[in-house]
Amino acid sequence: MSRPLGLAVVRSAAFAFDTAQHYSDVVAGRAPGYSYSRLDNPTAVAFAAAVAALEAPGRDDVRADPFASGMAAISTTLIAHLRAGDHVIGPADCYGGSYSLFTHWLPRLGIDATLLDMTDTAAVRAAVTDRTAMVYAETIANPTLTVPDLTALAATAHEAGARFVVDSTFASPVVCRPLEHGADLALHSATKYLGGHADATGGVAVGTPVHLGPVREARIDLGGCLAPDEAFLLHRGLATLPLRVRRQCASATLVADKLRGHPAVGRVRHPGLPSHPQHGTAARLFEPALFGGLVTIDVHGGRSAGMAFCDALQTVQVASSLGSVHSKVSHVASTTHRQLDDTALAAAGIAPGQVRISVGAEDPEELLADLRQALDAVTS
Ligand SMILES: *Cc1c(COP(=O)(O)O)cnc(C)c1O
Repeated sequence: MSRPLGLAVVRSAAFAFDTAQHYSDVVAGRAPGYSYSRLDNPTAVAFAAAVAALEAPGRDDVRADPFASGMAAISTTLIAHLRAGDHVIGPADCYGGSYSLFTHWLPRLGIDATLLDMTDTAAVRAAVTDRTAMVYAETIANPTLTVPDLTALAATAHEAGARFVVDSTFASPVVCRPLEHGADLALHSATKYLGGHADATGGVAVGTPVHLGPVREARIDLGGCLAPDEAFLLHRGLATLPLRVRRQCASATLVADKLRGHPAVGRVRHPGLPSHPQHGTAARLFEPALFGGLVTIDVHGGRSAGMAFCDALQTVQVASSLGSVHSKVSHVASTTHRQLDDTALAAAGIAPGQVRISVGAEDPEELLADLRQALDAVTS
């Protein structure tokens, strides 16, 4: 019999059995199969398996677990691996939702977090206590695009008997695979590069069963399972992930290079620029010549100039999120980092006119032309 090439969307919450014994065996894990989609759904499982293959090519001991969102994957992982009295070390400049987990929700559960600059490996080592159960990092930080030394952080975590968990959303497995650099678990917001089309929300956690097992159990009880329709879209996105991300990375490095020296632009940040403070670390950890699809530029003239630049763009979208095939900009000080005043922004290394560009898959020359004309518009 022939078989469908497209992935079947199994839009069913519950599964029927021929016998009571079979139901009992499946639900107890004695036999393979599906019983209830919060536990496992075939479409969601297919998506997760495809991510595991990308994060750990050639390894059959690595699995992935699918989630309703990136935050579901992150919160479930933290709850699965931390308990009251534990201490976690994470990035001061981490994703906003993760920041609230570390500073608001975890303390309510008796878990305290030290947030610092994860590129400062010595500071991380100094922050370890006998209660440190996890070191948590992001492969590429937002919006400063700093790159921590994953190998060194893994060593620090493991010497302390702690787990090393990496949110690798900004890199995608095409650019960097944290498990190859010592991470115990890699996490993603699949909403970004993995899906790639800004049309589905999801998340995923990847690791060996010893680390992923508790995450899966917590996911089942906390309930952040991935819906089959979203799983279909995210799985379809994966088919073009390497093509998209390679193009996005090449265009981002081109944009970063070409916008340097524009009279309206101060500092340009992108891990592919030799001037980037962790360019060497990125070159060691990342796939050759791939440095991610994000660029930040400091537009001269403060907040109003940064926003005017966004408004002057004709094809690039002013939009939240990142990683999709559409190029997008966000003015950092008025959106993702709006809680910070100018002093706090300066302390975080964010200029008031800073704009984050998530480079899409459009023609790079057309993209560059739009960015240049908008910069010219704010200069004149
Ligand atoms: C978007 C994002 C998240 C959260 O993912 P959702 O899918 O929006 O829940 C977590 N970490 C990073 C780095 C992100 O960019």
